[in-house]
Amino acid sequence: MDKIVALCKRRGFIFQSSEIYGGINGFWDYGPAGAELKRNIKDAWWNDVVRSRTDVVGIDGAIICHPRVWEASGHTTAFSDPMVDCKKCKGRWRADQLPDTKCPEGGPHDYTEARQFNLMFESHAGPIKDEDNKVYLRPETAQIIFAQFNNVLSVARQKIPFGIAQIGKAFRNEINPRNFTFRSREFEQMELEFFIQPGTDAEWHQTWVAERLKWYSTIGLPAAKLSCYTYKKEELAHYASACVDVMFEFPFGVQELEGIAARGNFDLSQHQKFSGKSLEYFDDETKAKYIPHVVEPSAGVDRIALALICSAYTEEEIAPGDVRIVMKFAPRIAPVKVAVFPLLRNKPPLVEKAREVFKLLQPHFNTEWDDRGNVGKRYRYQDEQGTPWCVTVDFDTLGEKGPELLDTVTLRDRDTMKQERVKIADLVPLITAKLRG
Ligand code: ATP
Repeated sequence: MDKIVALCKRRGFIFQSSEIYGGINGFWDYGPAGAELKRNIKDAWWNDVVRSRTDVVGIDGAIICHPRVWEASGHTTAFSDPMVDCKKCKGRWRADQLPDTKCPEGGPHDYTEARQFNLMFESHAGPIKDEDNKVYLRPETAQIIFAQFNNVLSVARQKIPFGIAQIGKAFRNEINPRNFTFRSREFEQMELEFFIQPGTDAEWHQTWVAERLKWYSTIGLPAAKLSCYTYKKEELAHYASACVDVMFEFPFGVQELEGIAARGNFDLSQHQKFSGKSLEYFDDETKAKYIPHVVEPSAGVDRIALALICSAYTEEEIAPGDVRIVMKFAPRIAPVKVAVFPLLRNKPPLVEKAREVFKLLQPHFNTEWDDRGNVGKRYRYQDEQGTPWCVTVDFDTLGEKGPELLDTVTLRDRDTMKQERVKIADLVPLITAKLRG
């Protein structure tokens, strides 16, 4: 992990939040490459889960909502982790995640009894800081979907089965943020609530588990590192009939990326009870009236970004003692798709031509201009950023070696390091075809 964390800083994927002030535990900032990576993950999810389906619509809800939402969902009373302290060193941990190290004060840790710690961040809406104005930063995006069920149903021209999706920030005051960004206090979720007829829970649950597993291969996570954990009956929440976690083999162990739960009608029933508003659905074909059940695939953007970074990281010895670090992202997810270089930065005709090529590519792909150092160094930089293709404009492009190479460039492939001579006019269709795989 140390090498990965170092690369993340060096190449602008992830920085410690407010690092110049010593950082703050559990919060991270994404740099230029990381911001693009995250955006690509979210776009891929939104495209595949919302836009390319006819039975899912999206919303974009507020981070702060009426505190009754969290009473209805059970978060104010039950969203807590058991916490213990060591009486000697004053260290604090989740009771189910105790350290395997000795106490720095000597001997084993001397733990207090476990006590429950609610993970929701609190704030106040308005100038008066009292109980009446208390609000919470949402610990998940899902409840905003349930609370808006009626409004969405009335506008979305959908019938059950259909889903409502949302991507957005969530906040949990984790006792022990750890494993880099894996367990953070601020993170992003991509959640789908797929509303179904009661009794169809098992089949829809299986459908979504299969769909979601398939999706991970489309963003380039290797199947060999993915697995599923199926909850045993006694591990399920009292209202849930099934739950499967999609797990990924991180360098620090096999851990959850996404949970897919069949939650019955618990959430809508609770909101109906607490709001006094009917959340029943009327099926105009069967004339049946019921509170819909739901299957919820809930994924974490930051965990997926970290999984992609961990699986992309590759060290290759290309000559004795010469190790190339390359981030082998799937092109679809790579932060920058193509980098354009003039062979030399101090030759105006080369720079001018390269600028033309850059302008040609930029409307089609996320394209980066790079004229620092020599071409070899630029390749290494782009390899560490995971850029699948580099285009170099050289003297041949200007026709200096003869007219047959005029207006051709070298297109270099990140993974094979092979270079091919390509006509500038062919670049857009060629890279488009490569991107489509
Ligand atoms: P865990 O058991 O790891 O705490 P969870 O089961 O509480 O996770 P869910 O409530 O199911 O997580 O949240 C759905 C998804 O949100 C998780 O699969 C994960 O990807 C993401 N997530 C949850 N907590 C965090 C966190 N503290 N930091 C980053 N991502 C998180």
